[in-house]
Amino acid sequence: MAEAAVDAGHEVVLISGPVHLEPPRNVELVSVSTSDEMFDAVHRHADDSEVCVLCAAVADYKPAEVSPVKIRKRAEEMSLKLSPTCDILESLGCRRDRKFLLVGFAAETDHIEENAAKKLRQKNCDIIVANDARVAMESDENELLVLFRDGEIKKLSPAPKKNLGRELVKIFLKFSTKTFDKKNVMITERT
Ligand code: C5P
Repeated sequence: MAEAAVDAGHEVVLISGPVHLEPPRNVELVSVSTSDEMFDAVHRHADDSEVCVLCAAVADYKPAEVSPVKIRKRAEEMSLKLSPTCDILESLGCRRDRKFLLVGFAAETDHIEENAAKKLRQKNCDIIVANDARVAMESDENELLVLFRDGEIKKLSPAPKKNLGRELVKIFLKFSTKTFDKKNVMITERT
């Protein structure tokens, strides 16, 4: 999607965790290692954006404590205590003053449309792109359901992810123009 957006002439800030992927040329790359760093980076850049696409599979939990020293092996079982991470998408969605289109992703294994619609409402975003985790992972192809806040649903048939990225960029732009006027003032009222 970042590549597709650059190719369509948009300025792109790509906030990425550690991945084995070459970043596309001509993006401003912000590298982060933890969900907290990603939260900060997203909030630093969000207000300068017209569209925020949150597609990272951010960890839902993080270790409750981080040991500064090596944890020694012991004979008994060990449990790790985890605490929830901040939900970045939700933290942007609950901002009523936002002037950017907010797009979230949903990777589901069951009741895809129903779960994605729930996520759209809960996280108060404008668009949710839903996919079947069993189809999407480890594959260069995907098929998508795009759910809009006004209730519209679009199905994108199986295709290479690069093509779907280009399709999504067009869809985001169209919906953004429908939601905001040229001065970035919201046209359609959010609930
Ligand atoms: O709730 P779930 O993790 O399935 O939702 C996925 C969406 O939420 C994605 O857009 C993902 O980038 C975002 N997310 C987030 N912060 C988290 C976890 C998920 O922004 N801590």
